[in-house]
Amino acid sequence: MNSEKTTDQQWKEKLTPEEYYVLRQKGTERPFSGKYNDFYEKGSYVCAACNSKIFESDNKFDGHCGWPSFDQAIKGSVEYVRDVTHGMVRTEVICANCKGHLGHVFEDGPKDTTGNRYCMNSVSMKFIPEEDAKK
Ligand SMILES: [Zn+2]
Repeated sequence: MNSEKTTDQQWKEKLTPEEYYVLRQKGTERPFSGKYNDFYEKGSYVCAACNSKIFESDNKFDGHCGWPSFDQAIKGSVEYVRDVTHGMVRTEVICANCKGHLGHVFEDGPKDTTGNRYCMNSVSMKFIPEEDAKK
């Protein structure tokens, strides 16, 4: 399936209402509500809409912000869009494959690694445990 050609109606049928709100309408889940906020098992995170791999658990850290935080994305898996909504200038992070909204990236991440904090919505991602990923 070519995810870029998927119509709005098709996304509505494919995704849950919450996934649709975040991924397609650029919504944000409530802080500390997401299932991956306080979750540190080993594995990978894929886009909830198209299953494209976007993060590794090794790059996850506790950002204390209420959303899952990573210091880097898998190279080429995401794209960046300048976002000036809500009276702020932020960098939106979208899935490079389906263009679904994932979250934002800020420059206040761990200084000893990349210095970036990818602030993601749990709803936008699905976790694949390490053992399953090897199959
Ligand atoms: Zn995607």
